[in-house]
Amino acid sequence: MTVRARIAPSPTGDPHVGTAYIALFNLCFARSQGGQFILRIEDTDQERSSKESEQAILDSLRWLGLEWDEGPDVGGEYGPYRQSDRSHLYRQYADQLVDSGHAFHCFCSEDRLNELRAEQMANKQTPGYDGRCMHLDKTQVQSKLNNGESCVIRMKVPSEGVCNFEDFLRGPISIDWQQVDMQILMKADGLPTYHLANVVDDHLMKITHVIRGEEWINSAPKHQLLYQYFGWEMPVLCHMPLLRNPDKSKLSKRKNPTSIQYYRRMGFLPEAVLNYLGRMGWSMPDESEKFRLKEMIEHFDIKRVSLGGPIFDVEKLGWLNGSWIRDELSLEEFAQRIQQWAFNREYLMQIAPLIKERISLFTDIVPLAGFFCSGMLDLDEKDFDHKSLEQETCKRILQFTLWRLETEQGWNRDNIEAIIKDLAQRMGLKIRDYLFPLFVAISGTPVSTSVYDSMAILGADMTRTRLRHAVNTLGGLSKKQTKKWEKDYREFIR
Ligand code: GLU
Repeated sequence: MTVRARIAPSPTGDPHVGTAYIALFNLCFARSQGGQFILRIEDTDQERSSKESEQAILDSLRWLGLEWDEGPDVGGEYGPYRQSDRSHLYRQYADQLVDSGHAFHCFCSEDRLNELRAEQMANKQTPGYDGRCMHLDKTQVQSKLNNGESCVIRMKVPSEGVCNFEDFLRGPISIDWQQVDMQILMKADGLPTYHLANVVDDHLMKITHVIRGEEWINSAPKHQLLYQYFGWEMPVLCHMPLLRNPDKSKLSKRKNPTSIQYYRRMGFLPEAVLNYLGRMGWSMPDESEKFRLKEMIEHFDIKRVSLGGPIFDVEKLGWLNGSWIRDELSLEEFAQRIQQWAFNREYLMQIAPLIKERISLFTDIVPLAGFFCSGMLDLDEKDFDHKSLEQETCKRILQFTLWRLETEQGWNRDNIEAIIKDLAQRMGLKIRDYLFPLFVAISGTPVSTSVYDSMAILGADMTRTRLRHAVNTLGGLSKKQTKKWEKDYREFIR
């Protein structure tokens, strides 16, 4: 048997370090077994998926040095590797399950499902579909279909007993069937859900090992059942521990930068980031702290992954990065890396239009645009002194903008401008005043290149991290104040 492992990211946001982590372990496992590593894009959620996000994921994984044997951009024998290019495939599998009695059409309206859910919550029951449409007979279904009634296809799930399955790292796992919902397989828009597409594709792409984050354990019963319904052999399941913040909470962008693009912009070396990810729950047999991808593959044994939540600590990563810079790069390589990092054509071409009209000498560039090559700015409370805005208002502007941007998917100049103008209007402030603390937070001075452009170029995570840093410079938010302001904010954006 040839081992085939895959990473299957959904292109719904910035490329996450968690994705890189899972990709790294899949790649090491596949390579150490003489197998293949595949990249598949899972974009069945059309509303949240975007081409930009897909491209950013591919670019970021490549920047890290993770190369796949098959994928949407390199092709392969089992393509296409993007689910939206495979949508014609899934319907027949869903129909097959309906024909064999393992799935059914469900015509229940959104309103009915909401009511059902509310009722179940009130009775302290696990929310889930109650199976009403399962009892429709063939003629009833056919006439509803003929009438063009909107419907989904759901899988049947046992109503009692336990589902037992094996996890490569954790051994046997049992989950009560009562906790497993009659999952929608095909949505009303004719597109599959993650569960159907994922199982069908893993089977068709001959995936032998599914190595993914532990947040998917609860989906395993549905997947195992689908494999049984289809009569297919299930790949080995292996759920990796979740990366955690130093306070043990799940790694999330509200607390820490999670985008690989941030680490790149911040000046981390890809080797150091990979090295650090390789140490998340895993270590070299000789416990050496520093190793390259090649060495990790050579010594890789997935059974040595430990399950206690590994802590992703940006400070420790910074320390490791310093040691890579000092010890592993020649002066020549060092200079070359700096050039690749920020003095490359692509980055300069983003900044050039913002500064060309504003300078007389090249020596004006660093004072004006040095913040494009900085991490956290050296800020002081006094930097936020303003003729009419109180510091507390500045802090509120920064925090509300931060919260609003945390939920933003499309990171581009026009979106950012629209969001900020809207916030200024809601706060009843002139846009000039509203922009003041943002300028200081992003560029370190009240007058600089357009703040919208600067935010777009710096990227979502760097922008948010600078806003957070500015809020902290102004004294931060106490727990009590966070609660109060969160409430105000919810009212404010309603
Ligand atoms: N599309 C899923 C994700 O975004 C893939 C999960 C899996 O590997 O099965 O994580």
